[in-house]
Amino acid sequence: MYKKVRGMRDIYGEEVEYFKYISEIAENIFSLYGYNKIIVPIIEKTELFQRGVGEDTDVVEKEMYSFQDKSGRNITLRPEGTAGVVRSYIENGQHKADPVQKYYYIGPMFRYEKPQKGRYRQFFQIGVEVFGIKSPLIDVEIIYMLIQFLKELGLDNLKVNLNNMGCGKCRKKYIKKLKKYMFKHKSALCDTCQRRLESNPLRILDCKKCGKKQFIKNTPRIIDNLCDSCLEFNEKLMNYIEEFKIPYSIDHSLVRGLDYYTNTVFEIIAEDLDSSQNQIVGGGRYNDLVSTLGGVERPGLGFAFGFDRLVDLVMEKELEIKDKKPSVFIAWYLNDKNELLKFANKLRSDGIKIDFKYKQVNFSNQLRYADKNNFDYVIFYGEKEMKSEDIHIKNMKSGEEKNIKFKNLKKFIK
Ligand code: AMP
Repeated sequence: MYKKVRGMRDIYGEEVEYFKYISEIAENIFSLYGYNKIIVPIIEKTELFQRGVGEDTDVVEKEMYSFQDKSGRNITLRPEGTAGVVRSYIENGQHKADPVQKYYYIGPMFRYEKPQKGRYRQFFQIGVEVFGIKSPLIDVEIIYMLIQFLKELGLDNLKVNLNNMGCGKCRKKYIKKLKKYMFKHKSALCDTCQRRLESNPLRILDCKKCGKKQFIKNTPRIIDNLCDSCLEFNEKLMNYIEEFKIPYSIDHSLVRGLDYYTNTVFEIIAEDLDSSQNQIVGGGRYNDLVSTLGGVERPGLGFAFGFDRLVDLVMEKELEIKDKKPSVFIAWYLNDKNELLKFANKLRSDGIKIDFKYKQVNFSNQLRYADKNNFDYVIFYGEKEMKSEDIHIKNMKSGEEKNIKFKNLKKFIK
């Protein structure tokens, strides 16, 4: 027997129903806000992520599935969605033709992390990317849209953590200050952070090991070191946050794991999940990424939520799939199977979800099967029913059985 590769998982049964349901709600809400779906490849050139996500991030340093293809090209299974969407925005000329673009994507990502519940090596993200909009109104609108989406799923107990990472200019100055401060505490830093002191000191702030130490809590704050235009941006943003009544907290150590962020960064925490995997959404602005990856200067921002974690959360909270189409099982006994097919197809073309056993077996066997597989209704279909206008139907949840007119079936099972 073959077993799946470590860190991969199969998604089937009830869980897959939740995947379908959640992506349907996400797609509906995103399209209400004017987003269009984009599908980009799962494989990109390795250098896209090295340049886009950043060499000193955990993702690029340790977690990428990179290899050479048969022609010796260095390629990588995408560890995140933004770099590929930005590449597409530039490569297809959108950054020049029509700079404002609002996209969403759904798909698998790959990271070589230590597998555990809620952390997989292939996991799914739903993400949104917006290009060409400078106003902080869009930053707040995407957070608002996210909250609306999560509420639509029936989730509450959510916390939005916010921070401002400044722009390239003020961040440079801040990093100098930060380095000076961190050097004083060098010996207290973990090995990774000692190395990052030179290459990427910001990441020390969100290091899982060092982050809890007192000297980190007293670090100079980025918000106190913003330049005038970042301050003005932040002030407008906070006004919109109040205007949209978004429940938030400022987290001065929130820098996010990927290097491309500028100004707004945010995450949403589901307080009902275990703290090792309770961050369900992460996002922010990346005003320099389009130009870093070879395009003209265009602001951008986005978020991605972990689909697998969201499904876990929704299932753990036993939130029901709303407006689920009822499923109908035909328990049949006929001499001619073609009559069964005709009947089933008539119902299916009426939009009714139908299934049946392909081999004729006795009724109790068919009923057991329908019960085990959670069908909502069973229709009994035999020689007598074939000639009649009536249908005998059983509601599997309530156990109620009755005869109804065939023409009323669709209304009845709603
Ligand atoms: P990131 O791309 O790191 O900002 O992550 C965005 C979201 O993806 C996180 O909030 C998680 O919900 C989810 N996520 C990240 N890594 C994993 C993983 N290995 N397994 C499952 N979900 C993940």
